Amino acid sequence: MKISNFISKSIFLVSIISVIFVLLVTILLQYNNFQKESGEIKKTYLKQKKKHLEKEVEKVYNYIQFKEKEINEKLKIELKQKVDNAYNTAMFIYKQYKNKKSDDEIKELIVNVLKNYSFSNERSYYFINSNDGRAILFNKNDYLNTYKHIWNMYDSKGEYIIRKQSAIALKKGSGFVKNHFVKPDIKNSKQFPKLSYIRNFEPFNWHIGTGEYLDDVEELAKDEILNYIASIRYEESGYIFLNTIYKKALIFNGKKQLPAIEYPNYELLKKQLDASSKKEGGFIKYKFKKLDSKEEYGKIAFVKRFEKWGWIIGTGAYIDEIDEIIEQKKLFLKNSVFFQLELGFLFILFIILVIYFISQKTSSLINSHIENFINEFDIATKEFKKINVHNLAYKEFKTLAKNLNKILEQRNSDYEKLENYNKILNEHVISSTTDLKGVITDVSQAFCDITGYTKEELIGKSHNIIRHPDIENSFYQNIWKELEKNNVFKGEIKNIKKDGEVYWVDIIIQPIYENNTKIGYTAIKHDITDKKRIEDYSITDELTKLYNRRYFNSKIEDGIKIAKEKNSLFSLFMIDIDYFKDYNDTYGHQQGDEALYKVANTLKEFFKGFDSYSFRLGGEEFAVLLYPKSKEEAITLATEFKERVKNLHIRHDSSKVSSFITVSCGVAFLEEDMKSKEFYICADKALYKAKESGRDKVSTF
Ligand code: GH3
Ligand code: MG
Ligand code: MG
Repeated sequence: MKISNFISKSIFLVSIISVIFVLLVTILLQYNNFQKESGEIKKTYLKQKKKHLEKEVEKVYNYIQFKEKEINEKLKIELKQKVDNAYNTAMFIYKQYKNKKSDDEIKELIVNVLKNYSFSNERSYYFINSNDGRAILFNKNDYLNTYKHIWNMYDSKGEYIIRKQSAIALKKGSGFVKNHFVKPDIKNSKQFPKLSYIRNFEPFNWHIGTGEYLDDVEELAKDEILNYIASIRYEESGYIFLNTIYKKALIFNGKKQLPAIEYPNYELLKKQLDASSKKEGGFIKYKFKKLDSKEEYGKIAFVKRFEKWGWIIGTGAYIDEIDEIIEQKKLFLKNSVFFQLELGFLFILFIILVIYFISQKTSSLINSHIENFINEFDIATKEFKKINVHNLAYKEFKTLAKNLNKILEQRNSDYEKLENYNKILNEHVISSTTDLKGVITDVSQAFCDITGYTKEELIGKSHNIIRHPDIENSFYQNIWKELEKNNVFKGEIKNIKKDGEVYWVDIIIQPIYENNTKIGYTAIKHDITDKKRIEDYSITDELTKLYNRRYFNSKIEDGIKIAKEKNSLFSLFMIDIDYFKDYNDTYGHQQGDEALYKVANTLKEFFKGFDSYSFRLGGEEFAVLLYPKSKEEAITLATEFKERVKNLHIRHDSSKVSSFITVSCGVAFLEEDMKSKEFYICADKALYKAKESGRDKVSTF
């Protein structure tokens, strides 16, 4: 997996998990909230509802309170205005007739005018008293001529009525007086609370006044108040009911009841009485029908007393309506929770898309940085060029690149050294590599130089191209045997150059491996031609180029050893030219040398194809060491060779056996336990035997 993919997948996965976690937590919280809120809704709503009921009652209560106060104020203004009118009328009459009529006449005029005034459904009228306690106009009757002394008149509460009025008139000129008095249209003598206004009328030391029975005024006002309260409607079925502590219903079922009816349900009224006994009012729970139905429903109501009038003001709400509203509220809450969740879900979907986009972007950014890094790394490792650290985005990459750069620096310097070293090796060390089959895959310049071939001529060929014909197959087989055993081969090989010249190398061949598998061989050679030349010189006869006696002495020992090891037949031929002294004497020493050379060359050529070594032991004497297949083959070869010499037809007129040069040959076979010396003597004796028997002969020991 690519790092960038891994990172982008990680980012995406972690984000998705967190987002889903947040979503789950949100759902859980919302669910909890919903559970809690729907539990609270009823409580809260009920509380609200109660408060509302309380408020509605409070409004009515305040209204009544206000109206009640207003009654008195209004009454006072009316009374004052009426009395002022009466006063002004009396004063107008007085001033009109002051100098024209007598006081008595004027008094009569005034009383007559004021006597006929009455108001408020005839309940109310003017009265006039003298400030010293005489009635002038009293209960609509004129007492001018009769002396009605009312100075000591008092009401049902025991208060002096006229004395009080006179005192205010004389002291303040005008003022209000409260007392209890009989009503003129009611025959019994029951007294009712009455408010009067009086004003001093100075010309006759009178006070003029009028009053109003408070209960009459209140009754009127209450009617108006009840009308209003009965008309109150709020919400679906909200209305105000109004009962009295005297078990009367004034507003029942939202309708004014005047005259008041008996309250039909004493138990319910009792509850209202109890709950409203507290000053601030209280709640009651009961069953009641709705305005538009006959069925009864659970209801909760708030009641409060208007103590002054003994009124119980109340209003209620139906539980089923509350429940309905609560259900609606719950539904609304549920919908809103679902809506929030939907919104949340959409938001999260959006977030996921954003995260996906960001993670893709991040991935491709990281990817491009990594690819850039890999590219740089690739170039660095292929071309060994240092990475430009400034092109890399991440600190870690920079560190890696710096480390690689250090390694590259070292490598490049090492490589340079190695190149130099290789150049030297290439130029001066003869080396070649082959595959496992021996096909040349590479050669050094030194190899080309010594062989005279170009690299192109050598690569793809086998080493046979430089093989010297003298070297036996067995030599090469031996090399392969060693190499196949994974051994290192060390030895000296005679090779041939492109121009046919011979050269010798000291060679080390060893297998080469790649990943523990042998893939070929490498050979390092050292030119030893000069050394070989010196070596050859010491074992070669100068005239004939055959091996010399020294080499014979060494080779005979080796040969015996090998023959014994291999248990093979080993023979020694001793060959001597016949009458050679005579030849020299006849043809001269120079020609003798030439004849010697010809015989030697014939010997070399003749035994070339056999497992043999040929030597010039000295003078005109030669030897051959040969491993024959049989004694017969050895004797046959010796005989054939003897004939070959004769057939050279080198004239030898002084020979006593032929007119041409001939040789005699003694053949000895190596016997068991035979030492070289004995072996040699045997051959020598065989030669002697050939000479003795007439020369131009082959003899065995
Ligand atoms: P026989 O048949 O018994 O071998 O008689 P022979 O004359 O060959 O034998 P002998 O050993 O008496 O003579 C050998 C002669 O070989 C003596 C010498 O003149 C000659 N000779 C030895 N070395 C050389 C050489 O290097 N060059 C020449 N031209 N003659 C040599
Ligand atoms: Mg001789
Ligand atoms: Mg001889």
